[in-house]
Amino acid sequence: AAKNAGRNRCQHYTPQMSADAEQRVVLERQLRQALENDEITAHYQPQVDAATGKLVGAEALARWHHPGMGMVPPSRFIPIAEECGLIVPLGDQILEKSLRQLASWRRDGFELPSISVNLSTRQLERQDFPQHVARLLQRYQLQPCDLELEITESVIMEAENAVNILAELRALGIRLSIDDFGTGYSSLSYLRQLPVQVLKIDRSFILGIGKGGEAIVHAILALSSNLGLETVAEGVEEPYQLEFLRAAGCHVIQGFLYSRPLHEEAFASDWRERLHTPAHP
Ligand code: C2E
Ligand code: MG
Ligand code: MG
Ligand code: MG
Repeated sequence: AAKNAGRNRCQHYTPQMSADAEQRVVLERQLRQALENDEITAHYQPQVDAATGKLVGAEALARWHHPGMGMVPPSRFIPIAEECGLIVPLGDQILEKSLRQLASWRRDGFELPSISVNLSTRQLERQDFPQHVARLLQRYQLQPCDLELEITESVIMEAENAVNILAELRALGIRLSIDDFGTGYSSLSYLRQLPVQVLKIDRSFILGIGKGGEAIVHAILALSSNLGLETVAEGVEEPYQLEFLRAAGCHVIQGFLYSRPLHEEAFASDWRERLHTPAHP
C-alpha cells in the first residue's frame, strides 16, 4: 500500500492547506508551465576513469531556471514531479536532450563515450519504455551502449514489472546502473538477479573515507567486483578520497573534485581535451 501512496495525487488548493502544501501546488503549476516553456535543461557532470584520469562519460542532471525564482534544485522539483506524474514528460525531455547533445558533440568531433540519465519509477512502469528508448537512439543515430540508465534501489522495488523492463532494456544493449547504492532497501541477493552492469556508491559512503568508514567502501567494492560490476564513486570532493578509491580499485570517479555539473558549452570546452589527456583535479 505504501508504494502506491503519493500516486495520482495532483493536489488542488483548499483553504485548510498548510503554507508548505500550498507552495507545492504553486510549484506544481509552475513546473507544468516550465515543461511547456522548455525551462528545464540538463547539466552534465564528468565521470573520470580512476586509473587513467581520462573522461569516460557524463551524467545528465535536470536543472530548472525559473524566471522569477532563479535556480530551483532537483531536490525541490523532482519529488513534486514524481508525485503528480510530470516526471514522465520531464524525464522524456531530459533523456531526449541528453541523446541529442551526445549526438551533437560527436558531430563536432567530441567523442564522449557515453551519457548517463536518471530514471524514475513512473518512466520504468511504461510497458513501451524500451521501445521508446530504442526509437530515440535511432533518431539520433546512437548505439544502445552510448546510453546508461541510472535507477535507484527504491525505483526498482516500487516499479511494477521493473525486472522485466530492465531485462528488455538490457537486451537492447543499454547499460544499467544502480544509483545511490547502499541507501535503499533491496536485499543483496536481489542485486544478483538484476540485469545491471554498474554500481554507483552513494556519496554518504564516500564521506566516510578517512572517518572510519573505509571498511564499508572496501566491502561494497568487493561485492561489486565479485558480481562482475563496474563501480562509480559519487560525490568525490577530496584528493584523499580519490587516492583511497583508486588504491581500492574503484573504476570511475564522479564529484566536485573534478567538476560540478556544467552547462553543455562549459562541459565541452572544459572536457573535450580530456578524452585523451588525463585530467588532474
Ligand atoms: P543523483 O542521480 O544521485 O545525482 C548526483 C547528485 O550529486 C547531483 O545532485 C550532483 O550535482 C551531486 N553531486 C555530484 N558530485 C558531488 C559532490 O562532489 N559533492 C556533492 N555535495 N554533491 C555532488 P543534483 O543535480 O542536485 O540532483 C539530485 C538528484 O535529483 C539526483 O541524484 C537524482 O536523484 C535527481 N535527478 C536529477 N536530475 C534528474 C532527472 O533528470 N531525472 C530524475 N528522475 N531524477 C533526477
Ligand atoms: Mg544519478
Ligand atoms: Mg546518486
Ligand atoms: Mg541521489
